[in-house]
Amino acid sequence: MAVLNFNIKEKKPWYKPSEYYTSPLSWLPGVRDQWPLLPERVHFIDSTLREGEEATGTAFSIEDKIEIVRKLSDAGVEWFDVGYPAVNRAQREDLEQLRNSGLKVGWYCLIQVGVDEWMKAIDVSVGAGCNRIKITGVGGGPRWGGYTRHGRVLHAFTLDGEKRILDAVDYCKKEYPDATVIVGPTDVTRGLLKPEPLVNLYRRCVEHGVDMVSVIDTFGVSEPTSIRYLTSEIKKAVGDTPINCHCHNDFGLAVANSVASVEGGASWIQTTVNGLGDRAGNASFEECVATLEILHGVDTGIKMNRLYEIAKFVEKTGGLKCQPHKAITGENAWLEESHASFLIQMRDSGADLLRGEAYKPELVGQKHNVVISKTTLTQNFIKYALNKLNLSVNDENVKIIIKETLKKIDNKTEKGLPRYLTEEEFYELCKKSLK
Ligand SMILES: [Zn+2]
Repeated sequence: MAVLNFNIKEKKPWYKPSEYYTSPLSWLPGVRDQWPLLPERVHFIDSTLREGEEATGTAFSIEDKIEIVRKLSDAGVEWFDVGYPAVNRAQREDLEQLRNSGLKVGWYCLIQVGVDEWMKAIDVSVGAGCNRIKITGVGGGPRWGGYTRHGRVLHAFTLDGEKRILDAVDYCKKEYPDATVIVGPTDVTRGLLKPEPLVNLYRRCVEHGVDMVSVIDTFGVSEPTSIRYLTSEIKKAVGDTPINCHCHNDFGLAVANSVASVEGGASWIQTTVNGLGDRAGNASFEECVATLEILHGVDTGIKMNRLYEIAKFVEKTGGLKCQPHKAITGENAWLEESHASFLIQMRDSGADLLRGEAYKPELVGQKHNVVISKTTLTQNFIKYALNKLNLSVNDENVKIIIKETLKKIDNKTEKGLPRYLTEEEFYELCKKSLK
């Protein structure tokens, strides 16, 4: 476990010259003491091909899927969720092509063991090449124990449900000893009045040799404190058996909840590139990686400088446009206008830009860019620019530059162009306006 075993005044884990400068508060014993189960290393299960494709407006060709897996595995992602190959013919055919492309990764599939044909589903999935078998379809939430789109299902916290889960673990272990077996009832965060039913179920799963257990927030209704608590209660019961968390974003908390689950002891997290997923999406891969690496000091094994390129590839091929101001990989994440004055002056003087930002964009594969807009036009900045251009610096000239800049931005806006000037456009405008 990662423990605070250094003097924070001497060693500054929140500051790495020319990489990042974050908050010392995250490293205080009073904070770190709350995460005694924080693992040193976290692994990723990518769900972009399955839950990502469930995002309305998103579809990937098989060629795109192969490339997405290739890029993510090159970056360090180990397992890939390929859905329900036993019951979904399209997913089974995609899996065949993915495997034929020579990718050497863990293929993670889901088995709905709540239905009668569960054994056959395991056989078909393993036969199709899945070596990570997730036993689910026995729900923990209020809607389970009846009929779903997959047919009749059992409730996880009933004798029948528990027996089915343990039978499925036994079956996998006996018939497919090389497969990794994971258990995770769906929708548990809505179905638990206290952690014990899930903790007790997982304790028995461990006795039956399960390789991993899950915390699944299917409807994104958890919040960080409760999911950290639930994860830590499970961790105390299952010991060395790894926990994976799977969080949805219905309240915009999927990343925060995934990170909190890691604080509680989860060492595998399931994410999608760009946070793609049904409804409001899933936990964003790039945001989880950057948060764990930079803010928590947890090793993810992910090459962070690939994050931007992967995010753009998934956006382009999947077809769903991401919000420009999305953290880490958004187009605006490093396109600054209100801070432009400060950054330009810092950059021109050769100062360390970390004074004015949390981390270097290159760390996540992005680049700095500044633009000039209404919020950039301070007296100080315009005078700085005029001086730099060897133009006379006086109040009248500042007024002219403000007026001309706003006029030009209005012109661009009318033409549907971005409501800002590039640095070069702004300098040209200064020179022309004061000729
Ligand atoms: Zn899900």
